[in-house]
Amino acid sequence: MSQNPATETRRFDTEVHQLLKLMINALYSNREIFLRELISNASDASDKLRFKALTDDALKGLDQDLTIDIGFDAEAGTLTVRDRGIGMSREEVIENLGTIARSGTRHFLESLSGDEKKDARLIGQFGVGFYAAFIVAEEVTVETRRADQAADTAVRWVSAGEGEYSLETIERAEQGTHIVLKLKDEHKDLLTRWELERIIRHYSNHIAFPIRLSEAGKSDDEQAGEPVNESQALWARPRGELSDEDYQNFYQGLTGDPENPVSWAHHHVEGSQSYSLLLYLPGQAPFDLLINRDDREGLKLYIQRVFIMDAAEQLVPRYLRFMRGVVDSADLPLNVSREILQDSPLLKKIRATVVKRSLDLIEKLAEQGGEAWDTFWQAFGSILKEGVIEDFEQRERIASLLRFATTGGEDATGLDAYIERAGEDQDTIWFLTADSLKVARNSPHLEAFRQRGIEVLLLTDRIDEWLVAHMDDYKGKKLKSVARGKLDLDKDEAKPSEEAQALAGRIKKALGERVGNVLPGSRLTESPGCVVSDEHGMSLQMQKLLRQAGQDVPDTRPDLEINAGHPLLKLMEAEGDDKRFGELSELLLDQALLAEGGELADPAAYVQRVNRLLVDALGNSDGVQSNAASA
Ligand code: ADP
Repeated sequence: MSQNPATETRRFDTEVHQLLKLMINALYSNREIFLRELISNASDASDKLRFKALTDDALKGLDQDLTIDIGFDAEAGTLTVRDRGIGMSREEVIENLGTIARSGTRHFLESLSGDEKKDARLIGQFGVGFYAAFIVAEEVTVETRRADQAADTAVRWVSAGEGEYSLETIERAEQGTHIVLKLKDEHKDLLTRWELERIIRHYSNHIAFPIRLSEAGKSDDEQAGEPVNESQALWARPRGELSDEDYQNFYQGLTGDPENPVSWAHHHVEGSQSYSLLLYLPGQAPFDLLINRDDREGLKLYIQRVFIMDAAEQLVPRYLRFMRGVVDSADLPLNVSREILQDSPLLKKIRATVVKRSLDLIEKLAEQGGEAWDTFWQAFGSILKEGVIEDFEQRERIASLLRFATTGGEDATGLDAYIERAGEDQDTIWFLTADSLKVARNSPHLEAFRQRGIEVLLLTDRIDEWLVAHMDDYKGKKLKSVARGKLDLDKDEAKPSEEAQALAGRIKKALGERVGNVLPGSRLTESPGCVVSDEHGMSLQMQKLLRQAGQDVPDTRPDLEINAGHPLLKLMEAEGDDKRFGELSELLLDQALLAEGGELADPAAYVQRVNRLLVDALGNSDGVQSNAASA
């Protein structure tokens, strides 16, 4: 039991503990980012106070002349970061500095590979935030008071970053947060004015509050009173004044992504409404982008330089949720709420511009091609595809950016390139959907196309089924599945012979309800049969995806197309025994389903059937029959 009733010791969440250990190792060589994280938190806290003070009279005046003050004491081996922002209550301290509130944490920890370089990148993207202090500190003390609570409700939090921390109620005259880092010996070299100024300028130059640096034991007069950083919102400055490095550093501070963005767009729009827009196209997917589809923090809304909220939902459609950046409006009211934003015509215009500018950036990258484009496509391609489904207005523009595997070569292709290769006469863009590229490339459906030299796009992304369901045509060319309906590949296709039709009829009779129709057709040159979906019905692949997603899908019966010229079909034609003919028909259908990557309703029956036929066939030729028969 502790002496002071207001002091308690608590244990970190296991996840925090785990993350701390990992982080300290993985980020050791990148130790400087700890200061960026602490300054960024101080800046967020100051933003929050400014925002709250707009509507809360009790806070009026407290938001004036906010600064972030960094102090260092080489002798004591300490570094301090102080803000006069919103601060934290006791509950908030426990919640924010004792747990990891983010949903994907466990998944994230599991995905770490043990390879330090890779993990450092992942951890960097995950945003270690406050805990980064423990990269350099052996002990961290946080004293904080919420700006809207009394002086004697302040809290002191102390931890060595091992398994626990202590919590104590204290008095603190000033609002906001004061953090003291007791540095580990090997990191005390950070404690010089020169070094700290360098780090602050490198990572935090465009933090919108002045960052001041002071050394213990020196009077204010001795120290330059000027802020170390530019302390001006970067996006508000003219483009001509900014270097690539400025933009890149700002991006890293904004997103925590340790890599540079691929490209960016910066605009000042004047006129009936004025706003600044700074958009970044990231090069890699942040760790949790795909896990949590709705957790989108990519775009920050400012109004007259005051941070209002993360407003990606209002500012950018979901299919562009990988975009990062800032919108600063001069015309929206400062006390705007999410509800007002939702219907604001002003914001709708800004959103339309964000979409246009984002697609501009992506188009430019696509034109350049090369590795940067490939990396982008790998990371965000399947997200961008959602745009074809969600954004009717931009559908064609988005579609032109999509890339697909193709029978035309090893490299992925775009629709425009496909059309160009296909030539004027071909009025259809052919595609095949499948689970994997391997299944797709081996599909019997491709035989007729291969024979005629017609290129087919191979769609293997989960979302592709939905994509093609929403895209009937592209630039006047129909999109059509090679596995659906009648193909009409040849203008004067010969009618199937009477024998072939009779055979098809016999197979249909044998299979009964298992198939819709059995048709002699032109799809196949090598395989005996394949399943064909109804022109307007749901494709087999779509049915499978829906089933996997736990949805009820009505059992639809596919058609079976047969290759009457195939030796197997010739044998069947000559088969007089109805029972055996029935077995062969079942086999034909099951094989066709399997070749499609489909699942058999009764795999065991299939195996037994194959074995019976094998034993039969082999037994007739080399006398194994007696063995099998006695087994
Ligand atoms: P993040 O900033 O990504 O949310 P952190 O670990 O850096 O993650 O911080 C967790 C939370 O702790 C913040 O979201 C904020 O609510 C709170 N916090 C951290 N530093 C401060 C500060 N200086 N003032 C007020 N709140 C803070």
